[in-house]
Parts: sequence; C-alpha cells; structure tokens
Amino acid sequence: MTDRYAIIGNPIAHSRSPEIHAAFARQTGEDLRYERLLAPLDGFGPAVAAFRAAGGRGLNVTLPFKGEACRLATEATPRARVAEAVNTLRFDGARVYGDNTDGVGLVRDLAANLGVAIAGRRILIVGAGGAARGVIEALLDARPVELVVVNRTGERAEALERQFPGGLRGMGFELLPRHGFDIVINASSAGLSGEAPPLPGSAFAAGAAAYDMVYGQGETPFLAFARRSGAARLADGLGMLVEQAAESFFVWRGVRPATAPVLAMLRA
Ligand code: NAP
Repeated sequence: MTDRYAIIGNPIAHSRSPEIHAAFARQTGEDLRYERLLAPLDGFGPAVAAFRAAGGRGLNVTLPFKGEACRLATEATPRARVAEAVNTLRFDGARVYGDNTDGVGLVRDLAANLGVAIAGRRILIVGAGGAARGVIEALLDARPVELVVVNRTGERAEALERQFPGGLRGMGFELLPRHGFDIVINASSAGLSGEAPPLPGSAFAAGAAAYDMVYGQGETPFLAFARRSGAARLADGLGMLVEQAAESFFVWRGVRPATAPVLAMLRA
C-alpha cells in the first residue's frame, strides 16, 4: 500500500514541498504519496491525529506549528530539542518521532551547493525566531570564528545567546559590531512586508555571501540590499528547502535522494 506523507501548516497552498517529495520518490523508486494539509490555527493536534488515524506515516511541519510539533513528539532528536522546533514527524506505532532538518539543510546548501565555507568565517544571522534558532547549532558545529544574531527585538537575540553559551552573541541592531561579516543570513520575515531588515551596508565584508532563507519570485529586498552593499554571492532559500526535505526523506525512508536535479527542476 502506498505510504502517505504530508506538509502541515497554515497557510499551506504556497508550499513547494509536494513537488520536491514527488521528485524524490520518482528518483528513488519509493512508493509514497505526499500532500498539503491545512490545519486550523487552533487545531494542529486533532489534524495530526486524523492524519495518523487515516494511515499517515509522517509529516513535515511549517509555520506556525513547529513549536507545537516539538511538544507533540514522544521522542525528539537533540537538534530538535535545542531548536525547540520540529519540522519532521515520523509515526512508528504509538511513538511520534520528532526531528529538525532545517539546520542541516542550510549548512548543506551553503557548503555543498554554493561552495561557501563556514569554518573560520564571521557569520551574521538576522532574525531570532524559529528559523534562526533551528540553524544555530548546525552553524556552530561547522566552526565559524564568530556567530552573531541580530534582531529587531534585541531581547530575543539576547535570550538566544543565553541558550547557546560560549558560541553565540545576540543583540539588537543598535549594538551590531562595526566590522563586516563574511556570510550574512536573513532569517527574518521582514521580506514578507516587502522590506529589507534594517542592516547597515557595512555589515557585508568585501566579497561577502548573502543568504536569504526566504525564496520566491525574483530578487528579495534583502538580496537587493546585499548586492548594493557589495555582497559577491547571493542565494535565496530554495536550496535550503530542498536540502531539509532530503534529510526528512531520509528520516522517513532511510534513503538519501540526490538534491541537485530536484533543485535544478524547481529553478527551471
Ligand atoms: P518567526 O518565528 O515569526 O520570526 C520572524 C523573525 O523576523 C523575528 O526575528 C522578527 O523580529 C523578524 N522580523 C519580522 N518582521 C521584521 C521586520 N519588518 N524587520 C526586521 N525584522 C523583522 O518566523 P521564522 O519561523 O523564524 O521564519 C522566518 C523566515 O524564514 C520566514 O520567512 C520563513 O518562511 C523562512 N524559512 C525558510 C526556510 C527554508 O527552508 N528556506 C525554513 C524555515 C524558515 P521580532 O523578534 O522583533 O518580531
């Protein structure tokens, strides 16, 4: 019988995950179906229970339910516990296994797809929400010389600094160090309102890489600002989306799909 998976969120119509997982299934010969599941904002738990009761084997979880998914998991991986967010659920009988594949997805996109080295570099993350928290540990594991989180609400970035003692500094924009960073990652949702986050152009070191976790049509406001500020490498978050999906696919099926052809297909 064909195994069922889905991405659950609200809203969900925009999600490209069904295309990605359908391509992975074709490529690997895995027998699965992958759908979109719109859950009511106050109805995540019942929507998951109904999907499981109907034979669902696993879910990807997106905004605004990643925190709830973490609480729902009966077992969570260390990287999901640190992030306090789950984007991948696997149902094994009564057990609900939770994981977070966003961090590994970002690091693989930077290192393997874009050829951007992290070790020894200065990295700035803009934003201190769930997306930022989900990638900090994976970035620290890749040994940057400096990792700073800057956020509109400075206290949220300071709270992250307390959560990752010794490895991370967090602050509001007014306290941002004056030197440039080699990699600047936009993990804020400022772009959703058509804005770039309030960074000074000097945040980009000469030849810097600028990475926007957001993806969509054309250049995002953050990437446009980065280009004007001298960033040499620009990338949106589509590669991260494909890489985190591949890691979820591995969690569910034990098979690692090739990501490059799927990313090329989405870009085309
Ligand atoms: P979130 O938890 O709601 O956090 C939003 C963050 O954006 C907060 O730090 C918020 O600052 C900041 N922000 C919002 N509007 C801003 C503005 N006008 N100026 C400056 N900062 C602003 O959201 P999230 O889950 O972290 O997601 C952030 C983005 O990453 C989303 O667009 C999401 O789609 C994307 N994402 C992409 C992938 C991928 O695979 N490519 C994966 C995960 C997430 P305050 O704390 O001050 O409110």
